[in-house]
Amino acid sequence: MSESPRLDGVVDSHCHLQSLDPDVREAALDEARERGVVGFLMPAIRLAEAEELLELCERHADVWCALGTHPHDASSWQEGDAERLRSLLVHPKAVAVGECGLDFHYDLAPREQQGRALREQWEVAIDLDLPVIVHNRESNEEMLQLVREPQFAELRADFHSYSGGVEMARELIERDFYLGFSGMVTFKRADNVREILPLVPDNRILVETDTPYLAPTPHRGKPNKPGWVVEVALRVADELSLSPADFAKLSSSNFRALFAVELDPS
Ligand SMILES: [Zn+2]
Repeated sequence: MSESPRLDGVVDSHCHLQSLDPDVREAALDEARERGVVGFLMPAIRLAEAEELLELCERHADVWCALGTHPHDASSWQEGDAERLRSLLVHPKAVAVGECGLDFHYDLAPREQQGRALREQWEVAIDLDLPVIVHNRESNEEMLQLVREPQFAELRADFHSYSGGVEMARELIERDFYLGFSGMVTFKRADNVREILPLVPDNRILVETDTPYLAPTPHRGKPNKPGWVVEVALRVADELSLSPADFAKLSSSNFRALFAVELDPS
C-alpha cells in the first residue's frame, strides 16, 4: 500500500465504521489519517446501536455520527423512537439524523413502514435544526413527493452515494440539498453517476466511501475502508478539472458547513 496516494484535508462523509471489526477499524482509521483524511462521519443503521456509535465518537476526536434508522431496518422503528432519537441527539458528536430513507430495490422493510420511519426522522431533524443523511434507491418518485411537502421545506440533507439520475439531481440541487459521491464514480460503467458531477454547485458536493461497501477502483470487490475516500476524491477532482488539493478543501468546507463540525487541518 506504499503506492497509495495522499490527499491532505479530505473527509469521508459516510463510512459505517461500526461494521468493521474493532482491530480492522482502528487500523483503517490510522491508515486513512496517514493518507490525509481529517474527518469521518459514521451513520447509524439502527437506533439500537446509538450508544455504541457515540462511544466510538468519544474515543476519536475526528469521528462524528448520524443517528437514526436505515430503510433496510425500518421494521425496527417503533412507537417512541422519535422521542428516543431526539434525546440521543443532544450528544455533541451526533451531528445529523440518519441514515434514513427509502429503498424499493431491496424492500427489506414494508414500504409503508419505510415511509413512516422516514417522516418521523425528518420531523425530528427539522425540530432540532439538524441535517439528514438520505438513502434513496429506486424510490425517486416517492422521495420527490416527500421533499415537496411544505412541512419538509426546511429540510437540510445529504443525498449520499447519489445515483438517482439527472432529473432527480436537478430538483435536489434546486432545493439546496447536498449530493454525496462514493466509489461508484470510479466504476467503469458509471457514466450515469459521473454525468451528475458537473451539475452540482461547488458548495453542495461531498465525497464518501460508504464503507464497507462500494470500494473504489482499483480496490473494487474488497471491503471498503475510509482511506479510500482519497481515490474517490481524486476521481471527482479529475472529472471536474479541479486540482486535488482544491477539491479536498472544497468538499471539506462543504462538510463543515452542512454538519457544523470543526476539522483539525493538521
Ligand atoms: Zn450508508
